[in-house]
Amino acid sequence: MSNYSELSREELQSLHSDLLTKYEDYKKKNLKLDMSRGKPAADQFDLVKELLDTVNSSSSLICENGMDCRNYGLMDGIPEAKRLLGEIMGVQPQEVIVGGNSSLNLMYDVISWAYTHGIRTGALPWCKLEKIKFLCPVPGYDRHFKITESFGIEMINVEMTSSGPDMDMVEKLAAQDESIKGIWCVPKYSNPQGITYSDETVRRMARMKTAAKDFIIMWDNAYSVHDLYPEDRDSLLNIMEECKKAGDPSRVIIFSSTSKISYSGAGLAGLASSEENIANIKKLMTVQTIGFDKINQLRHVRYFKNYEGILSHMDRQAQLLRPKFKAVLTAFEKGLAGKGIASWVCPKGGYFISLDVLPGCAQRVVSLCKEAGVVMTPAGATYPYGKDPKDQNIRVAPTYPTVAELEQAVELLVLCVELAAVEKLLG
Ligand code: PMP
Repeated sequence: MSNYSELSREELQSLHSDLLTKYEDYKKKNLKLDMSRGKPAADQFDLVKELLDTVNSSSSLICENGMDCRNYGLMDGIPEAKRLLGEIMGVQPQEVIVGGNSSLNLMYDVISWAYTHGIRTGALPWCKLEKIKFLCPVPGYDRHFKITESFGIEMINVEMTSSGPDMDMVEKLAAQDESIKGIWCVPKYSNPQGITYSDETVRRMARMKTAAKDFIIMWDNAYSVHDLYPEDRDSLLNIMEECKKAGDPSRVIIFSSTSKISYSGAGLAGLASSEENIANIKKLMTVQTIGFDKINQLRHVRYFKNYEGILSHMDRQAQLLRPKFKAVLTAFEKGLAGKGIASWVCPKGGYFISLDVLPGCAQRVVSLCKEAGVVMTPAGATYPYGKDPKDQNIRVAPTYPTVAELEQAVELLVLCVELAAVEKLLG
């Protein structure tokens, strides 16, 4: 396949008219496909349908420590759920709070508490300070950026590398600017690139000097057990252990949920941090709630039992997801490789594939797709303020459509990438 930048103007013009004809044919198909959000498909939920049978009208609703799960109490979670989420997050049960159904909600709460009250012992509420900034590895998760944006926190882009955020940049900025109060991280199978932070990145994150004494690492380990190839899992160094070794376990707040393990919107979510932070957070949380849904906690623990139970379920889930990722990657390879107009990362897990097109083309590609009936995540969504400075990144979410739908949608996506690139090269 020839590199498009080497084609003559005439060759590009003739290619353009071929691509346009194909595109017009696609439009006639009246496609109606949505690849915009990383939602699980129904067959993933079907895998855990017996979870709903674990608690019924004849079940005991008494948890391990003798408490009745129908009643108030145990705001931080039933012991067996704290243990299960603790295992997923790689921490001790006493370092865990099991929340409601959404880890994003807990992340919002953490930023909100830091803003209004302060979380780390001795920290001033951020609202009392002139300026608050946050480091945002890019491309990243749009909903993280929306949280910090909504509090008026200035977001600073830090480029992702194949081993995680550019740590030279992170260390330099965190060390020199007291108003930088934290960083967003999706350390395993990152959203959207599927990159897992290297051991060195995790160690540097735990050890780096920060000008702000109340710096927090928002460690959103949403995809910690979401391996596509169970025999070849990425491994992530335990950030809590590294922070303990570095003498500052309060620096990190870990988040996790079963939204993409059991049910999105009806799973369990938790956070973990040093016992000191957990005590501070409990004081803040107790004003908001008397407790979360402990019956759902029971259901989950009775179904999955332990970490091994989670992993073996995720292996079954991977069987459903592998063909979907493969459909997208095969189409990229077939339609885009060697043309010099796109690049992508082949993820070993997570929920997304990140596609970089020629600079200045992402918005055009997404709008061409939309016009032909395929909705993609808006271009720019993977950057703070929705602004991709190079207008280059597109997040592909392959989990929800069927393989057949994906094949159609990705064929169109590839065509739109080519069309936008040729338009660009023609000027
Ligand atoms: N974090 C990341 C990185 C995600 O991709 C998602 C879902 N797209 C979430 C958090 C949301 O998790 P939850 O359902 O637990 O709020």
